[in-house]
Amino acid sequence: MPIRILPPEVADKIAAGEVVERPASVVKELIENSLDAGATDITVEIREGGRRLIRVSDNGSGIPAAEAPLALQRHATSKLRTADDLEHLTTLGFRGEALAAIAAVSRLTLVTRSVGEPVGIELRVEGGTLLGSRPMAAPPGTVLTVEGLFWNVPARLKFLRSDTTEAGHIGHVVTRYALAFPEVRFSYLNEGRLVFRSPGNGDRQQVLLRLLDAESTRQMLTIAADPDPLFPTISVEGFVSAPSLHRANRGSIELFVNRRLIQDRNLAFAVIQAYHTLLPGDRFPIAFVFISLPPEEVDVNVHPTKAEVRFRQAALVFRAVQRAVHRTLVETAPVVNTLTTPAEGREGPIGPREEAYPTQLSMNLPPADAGMMSSAVVPAPSSSSAAPTGGRLPPLRAIGQVAAAYLVAEGPGGLYLIDQHAAHERILYETILAAPRRPVAQQQLLEPVAIEIGTRLAGLIAEHLETLRQSGFDLEPFGNGAYLLRAVPAFMGRQDPQHVLSDVAESLAAEADAVAQDREQALIRVICKRLAIKAGQVLSLREQAELLRQLEACENPRTCPHGRPTVLHLSAAQLERQFGRE
Ligand code: ADP
Ligand code: MG
Repeated sequence: MPIRILPPEVADKIAAGEVVERPASVVKELIENSLDAGATDITVEIREGGRRLIRVSDNGSGIPAAEAPLALQRHATSKLRTADDLEHLTTLGFRGEALAAIAAVSRLTLVTRSVGEPVGIELRVEGGTLLGSRPMAAPPGTVLTVEGLFWNVPARLKFLRSDTTEAGHIGHVVTRYALAFPEVRFSYLNEGRLVFRSPGNGDRQQVLLRLLDAESTRQMLTIAADPDPLFPTISVEGFVSAPSLHRANRGSIELFVNRRLIQDRNLAFAVIQAYHTLLPGDRFPIAFVFISLPPEEVDVNVHPTKAEVRFRQAALVFRAVQRAVHRTLVETAPVVNTLTTPAEGREGPIGPREEAYPTQLSMNLPPADAGMMSSAVVPAPSSSSAAPTGGRLPPLRAIGQVAAAYLVAEGPGGLYLIDQHAAHERILYETILAAPRRPVAQQQLLEPVAIEIGTRLAGLIAEHLETLRQSGFDLEPFGNGAYLLRAVPAFMGRQDPQHVLSDVAESLAAEADAVAQDREQALIRVICKRLAIKAGQVLSLREQAELLRQLEACENPRTCPHGRPTVLHLSAAQLERQFGRE
């Protein structure tokens, strides 16, 4: 075929393919236009998954009648004049493409009235061709109706999924914009039925409540506002899940840049990294992270649907996100106890502590504590009055042991069940991590012991001598894969060091590939797992109390180093409810 310039209607259809992939992309573009027009009330209605009808109505500025036909043409926009304007965009749209693209692949009706004009105008377009226009009485604002989407692009039509799936994608778009713009009231109607409405009162938490179930919402933490000294013009806000709430994939990490929903694998990773050991390795948090920064710091013009952006200082943005999320996780308090601070409780013998809360079961607990059984009790986003106490445990009184694996304890917040192995792992982990500041207590061996570990594993030990020393093993190379051991960590008890070290080296070898980036931490986790008391080990009441005391002193007592919960909590309020005393 010879080279030819495509006729405009073919070129338009091809261009439309980039912007309009499915009904939800139409909804996204129309909502963005309504927001750019300053609307405070936006209604989205659909039929048959958006295939038959999509209608977006707003109370925004409207389009002057004389300009309305232009709005439907390609590269026609009121948001941009010069290429320089691209450097500091404050609008969601800027390419002047969306309406033309949608019009090219549907039957579109635009009714709009500019605030300054007495009547509005109606335009009808089919497959990109203007069929007619007439004056029309209408309230100020714009109503865009898109019918028969893709009627003239059968290839696209074939790729659409079921009505339910498409409606779900649309719902996702509507709810995310509702979250990003809490001051705007969004309504979403499917087949005439209202399925979502945001209050539009500026309170983002109230929108969140309508997106997640009550239990999940309760476990969402509000990101603590905290200016980053290295990047004072960036702000990171939003919500992240407490470590007790997680998902099987990273799809629930949602990122917004200047209130635009974007995809960014790097920033999603920043969120994940902030959880460090708080989540099991194969689990991911839920996050809604709103990043605001000066428009000149972001390039939005890199992706056809504007779903990706580029940052001028990507590393600083990464750091700011990771830092904000991490701080939130470390600082947001579980509202377990408002009477005794953990610091007060950690010191002192058990006797006085018992007296400190003799009537705890009849005590009135804060509502945030009155929910379902959960491994971590965290405030609902609304209970911002909670003083930060670092997610620590309140003082606990050992009651006994169940199945030689779980401790039963009482605390000011009700009943606690503690997994003894997981709890001890956490304790050892924090002990070893703190070793550079506070050396691990060691047990000197009467005589140095020669450890034969085999050349395969000896290399691993050699590589990690420093970390092993930090963990309390005083090891010295002795040639030919052998080591001389002079001291062991005190918490190792009377276990055979030869066994312990070769088990540790074996586990590390098995984990080696997966954790190549963080071998030291992996080694420490392996040591903790190997040396922690096991399920099945009977503990005296004194030993139980000691374990609890050490767990209370941990910074992150609620998960083991592998991210599994150490503690289950049954609140007093919940006990009362279960016994029908409320
Ligand atoms: P862009 O949003 O990139 O400018 P669009 O094709 O989406 O391009 O819209 C073209 C123009 O039509 C916009 O620049 C705006 O002036 C006008 N417009 C579209 N939708 C609305 C609306 N809901 N309210 C007011 N003006 C609108
Ligand atoms: Mg637009």
